[in-house]
Amino acid sequence: MGSVALMMQQASAQAKGRAVVFTHVSVVNPDGTQDDVALAVQGNRIAAIGPTATVVPAYPGADIYDGRGKALISGLVNCHAHLSATLERGFNEDFGFPNALKLPVRPASLLSGEERTLMIMIGALEAIKTGTTSLVQFEGNIAPYAGPLTKSGLRMILMESIADNDSVAGALSPDGAAHLPAPVWSPKRRDEGMQRIHDLYSAWHGKNNGRVMVFPAASLAETSSPELLKAVRGFADAHELGYSIHLSQSHAEVDYMVKHLGLRPPAFLDKSEFLGPRLFAAHCRYMDDNDIALLGRTKTMISHQANMAACRGVIPPIPALRAAGSPIALGTDNNTNDLMSVMRTALLTERIKRDDPFPGTLPQPEDSLEDATLGGARALVKEKELGTLEVGKIADLIVVDTMRPYLVPAGRFISAWIHNGQPSDVESVMVDGEFIMRDRKVLTLDEAALLAEADKVGKRVWNKVKAAGPIPIPRVIRA
Ligand SMILES: [Zn+2]
Repeated sequence: MGSVALMMQQASAQAKGRAVVFTHVSVVNPDGTQDDVALAVQGNRIAAIGPTATVVPAYPGADIYDGRGKALISGLVNCHAHLSATLERGFNEDFGFPNALKLPVRPASLLSGEERTLMIMIGALEAIKTGTTSLVQFEGNIAPYAGPLTKSGLRMILMESIADNDSVAGALSPDGAAHLPAPVWSPKRRDEGMQRIHDLYSAWHGKNNGRVMVFPAASLAETSSPELLKAVRGFADAHELGYSIHLSQSHAEVDYMVKHLGLRPPAFLDKSEFLGPRLFAAHCRYMDDNDIALLGRTKTMISHQANMAACRGVIPPIPALRAAGSPIALGTDNNTNDLMSVMRTALLTERIKRDDPFPGTLPQPEDSLEDATLGGARALVKEKELGTLEVGKIADLIVVDTMRPYLVPAGRFISAWIHNGQPSDVESVMVDGEFIMRDRKVLTLDEAALLAEADKVGKRVWNKVKAAGPIPIPRVIRA
């Protein structure tokens, strides 16, 4: 059967309210695993979890998914992504932050608008194939590609980010920050930014049965005036949304803010009434004890991009932030959109960071899974509806094939999966009760066409960059 015919058949089956029942499957939650049960999905909700022999007869005519050798896990929630950065894979991971390697040409400047959307769609494809069901796309000016992106079927949080500091273009680099003039706040840019947030919210929030959400964001701590911070927070409060910002991601940011604004970034945000329990602040790498106490006291959530942080050679003080009261969620940031690998890096790097009397016992894989699922659901203000596999919750879930040489035998599946699992173990992905990938075939996007096109564009761009001059790669000195 062709993919279009298959898609139509499945869409029409679900439109008629045909249930999906996973049989003889393991249902895996951070608080425990139920083996050899059935899980029924009716409409967009988990309708039943129980013995296969009792659940199957309760859903006559259901689409039966044989779950033997499979585990169901709540879909992963990526709380911080910049999807278009897929273009810069192989460049952005290895040269610190901001990127210290000066390329002769900026790769993104060689893309047309359509090609940029293509890079974003490749990121969405990767997210689906690696088990993500919800994704926060943090960027300015999302409107031009909101249509194609939401067609991916992912639960998309379109996070429109804004800035109003005319004297700082973007994230500060260590060599230039000391010479930058004081902030020049632009009411015009602030108003235009808030208008973009408002327009995107009006056009998209709640679309696709609530699968699309629009959240506001202040782009960076160092590019946000107190008025901008209050406006973003005010919009989020008025519409009961989450909101975000890049916070304390470099020494240069901290130094600039202390020099020109007289406060470290978290204190500046606190004074501007920005901290709070619906803020999920990205990074929080360079924190002192006061910073940590402020975030904890205000119950500010942390979106922890463990892979990117480790690439930058810095791990945020996650143990101290947890202890202070800040919930943790996970994100990918740039280049890769594989949250499975982030769970593993977060687990291992936090163990290195902790100062426990008996090292190597905390956090547990159950904790990493909870950060990646329920922690993310909390950031989306959806923890009552998403983040665990429970009757009554929305069916955002993934099917993992456990019959792998690195997953069997396993005394404890969650541990085996977080330590050893591979993205290709993710066999199917369901969002809002609908399969968007089944048996490794993505049903919402044309994977082969996207890959062929992105490969072609990527090669053209990188060949041009390389032709413009040499790219020196530093290497370790060997004795
Ligand atoms: Zn970011």
